[in-house]
Amino acid sequence: MMRQYNQAKSEVGDALLLFRMGDFYELFNDDAEVASKHLGLAIAKRDKKNAIPMAGFPYHQLDTYLGKLIKAGFRVAVCEQVEDAQAAKGLVKREVTQVVTPGTITDQAILDPAESNYLAAIQINPKSKHANNASVAWVELSTGQFAAATLPEAKLADLLTRLNPKELLVREDQAENLEQLVFDTYITRRPKWAFAEKQTRQVLMKKFDVGTLDGLGFEDHESDVFQVAGSVIDYLNETQKCSLDHIQVLSPYQQNQFVEIDQASWRSLEISQTIRHHSRHGSLLGVIDRCVTPMGSRLLGIWIRTPLTSQQKIERRLDAVEETAQDTKLREGLRSDLKSIYDLQRLLAKVSTGRASPRDLSQIRDTLAILPTIKAKLTGRNSNWLVQMEADLDLCADLRTQLDQALSDDCPMHLRDGGIIREGYNKELDELRELAKGGKEWIAQYQQSIQEETGIPLKVGFNKVFGYYLEVTHTHRDKVPENFIRKQTLKNAERYITPELKEYEEKVLSADSSAKDLEFDLFNQIRELAGSHAARLLAIAEIVASIDVVTSLGQLAIEQTYCRPTLTPESTLEIVEGRHPVLDIVQPLGAFVPNDTALDEEAGFIHLITGPNMAGKSTYIRQVALITLMAQIGSFVPAKSATIGIVDQIFARVGASDELSRGQSTFMVEMTETARILNTASSRSLVILDEIGRGTSTYDGVSLAWAIVEYLHDHIGCRTLFATHYHELTELQQTFNGVRNWNVKIQEWEEKIVFLHKIVQGAADKSYGIQVAKLAGVPDWVNRRADQILKNLESQSRDDQEQVKSATSKKGSDLQLTLFEYADHPLLEKIRGLDTNHMTPIQALQVLGEMQTQVDPDKVPVNQA
Ligand code: ADP
Ligand code: MG
Repeated sequence: MMRQYNQAKSEVGDALLLFRMGDFYELFNDDAEVASKHLGLAIAKRDKKNAIPMAGFPYHQLDTYLGKLIKAGFRVAVCEQVEDAQAAKGLVKREVTQVVTPGTITDQAILDPAESNYLAAIQINPKSKHANNASVAWVELSTGQFAAATLPEAKLADLLTRLNPKELLVREDQAENLEQLVFDTYITRRPKWAFAEKQTRQVLMKKFDVGTLDGLGFEDHESDVFQVAGSVIDYLNETQKCSLDHIQVLSPYQQNQFVEIDQASWRSLEISQTIRHHSRHGSLLGVIDRCVTPMGSRLLGIWIRTPLTSQQKIERRLDAVEETAQDTKLREGLRSDLKSIYDLQRLLAKVSTGRASPRDLSQIRDTLAILPTIKAKLTGRNSNWLVQMEADLDLCADLRTQLDQALSDDCPMHLRDGGIIREGYNKELDELRELAKGGKEWIAQYQQSIQEETGIPLKVGFNKVFGYYLEVTHTHRDKVPENFIRKQTLKNAERYITPELKEYEEKVLSADSSAKDLEFDLFNQIRELAGSHAARLLAIAEIVASIDVVTSLGQLAIEQTYCRPTLTPESTLEIVEGRHPVLDIVQPLGAFVPNDTALDEEAGFIHLITGPNMAGKSTYIRQVALITLMAQIGSFVPAKSATIGIVDQIFARVGASDELSRGQSTFMVEMTETARILNTASSRSLVILDEIGRGTSTYDGVSLAWAIVEYLHDHIGCRTLFATHYHELTELQQTFNGVRNWNVKIQEWEEKIVFLHKIVQGAADKSYGIQVAKLAGVPDWVNRRADQILKNLESQSRDDQEQVKSATSKKGSDLQLTLFEYADHPLLEKIRGLDTNHMTPIQALQVLGEMQTQVDPDKVPVNQA
């Protein structure tokens, strides 16, 4: 057996092996140590001589322990007994039936119902073909969603951040610097050949049963996606060893149809996860999700990750949301129907992979039973999409009838429990059941009659060793007749059998086990039948999920009194009484102070927002970005009215220090990320900047912030909100037409300040830092002393301010000149190789940032930049 074990273990690489032995799963050697550490199992030494450590748990606890091991970051292989232990001659045959990894979980007990669990594969494509391109494919094994894209390598991190895959397949020769791409993702290195062009194409053609991949909808230049997509299927074949029928299509992910949001923006806007706890709870997604099915929650997650840029598509969603928002009866009716619906996608995945239990199939049946009432509610609706959904909703009546006829009302969790098939479905089964039941009845009668005959109070019992037996207490031992055959002596009683008893036992047991075998076969047929309808069931699931998302957005709109946004292709943004969607929900009703926003040529498209700490600057600029995002997924928005000029990209940058943990200096990070905006934003983008420039000394910071605003104004012309505490920046309004000053209103009252959280026109007059410190509980002495120092500084700094002003009034390209001045400095060896002659101002900014971090600022006057 250990040879068999070692063979299996060698097949599964670095996975832990759960080895089925009778009613237990056992782990051996090092695996046993791991199990003892992570599962708290006791280690036993099975073979005293060789002392092999071993740990195990009962088979019915597989889900629980498997889940724990996966969560702890292990891959786990399951090795099952694949023949009947009783029938086996010699050693029972065993096979590895599945390797479970973080990206290939299908078990609902382990999965988060509201979140997609992606397995992704990436490849940086060979330079010879499409320089600096990368390909990504991702699959949700528990639902069958499968998509792929080819995109510039620089955008890989953005997409992966949004998908947040649980497991990433990478080529072993490309497995470096992955921490820039993904967070908290299990990395699986794959050999280079697993991505080989020819082999992966064949895997895909076989999977989709086609002779060419041309029909999948990818452009010629995207053909690299087949390598990653094929490697995903290859990996699933290798680990799952089962049918993958529920993966029906490979969809092209069309980047340009969606609003692009890069990694840094995605994180800082806390769209799907909070920054602090990486939790869904408290994120935008977490607070707006009113879905009543897991399918709906997951679809909303997909929507929020792919906001639309097509006005027509957004309006189509908005129409449907509006209809459910206005029609309370429709909304509430649908939501109450949806509550009785099971997770059809994940159930179907279990059917396709051959892991569905009887209970799972009965849940599919029960779900189909709800569809007619949903369809009826959708009849005669106005919005195009609802009408379309009604027309498309296939009730699957044929399958439903078949399931209904075959499955009993209360299906068991486990296959071997019996009682799966309804009476009347199969004649042979009914007969066997009758026989088994009849036998049992006979035995009861037999007990009765023999008791009367002999005058002994008898008990009929059953155990695995002797089968049915008659038990007689020692008191009545003398009365036992000759034909009783003694089998076992207990302390107080003896057990006998009789030939008649054995004859019936035979009948009962064989009928019982034949019935169970037959039930097993019938169940497998039904499971296959359900599996053969996979495409139809998936289509139903998609419609149900869409209805759930639409009605939940309708519900949200009513609960929070949102308005329907008006969309326009123009570069404008007008929000009346806008609220921050998260704070609006978590703060008590009416506590949040709404604010207006107007960004366009006339009202200025770049707004600088000044004001003291804690005034509400960050909240305000984020709320504008989040409202825009919500509008473009097709949701109503937290405002009295909103006109949203459709954006192509949303950028959010925060000059924060929490990036320090990633090993780069704050300033370097800030500059790299800001450079990215300046290099990729278009006139249709929305940019929000929060205290950018803070990571360096004041003059550098002001100068850079100044140059950035200039560049956005002159070269990009995109809608921008810039929260800053640099008062120097407010001068920009005088030089640049599109720039306007705003500030957050503060009420001073008896040397204290009160935050009104109201955005008003004009620049803030002072920074109130000391008052804020007072609010925060800084001792009075410090505050008074700070006040004195401030007064001194203010008189001193007038000259300095002049200096800053003259420096910043130059155009951003002057930075290039500055750079030349220092290009010969011996400390700058590292950046010498750069071609400063052909450097854009943005690249110059980046280099400057690097200099700042590498050069001792006391010796090299980079500050003067
Ligand atoms: P700043 O960026 O100016 O330092 P924040 O935007 O971080 O200020 O806001 C500080 C706190 O003020 C927030 O945590 C929030 O609780 C509160 N706040 C901000 N804006 C509003 C508002 N419009 N209505 C009510 N409370 C607000
Ligand atoms: Mg702030």
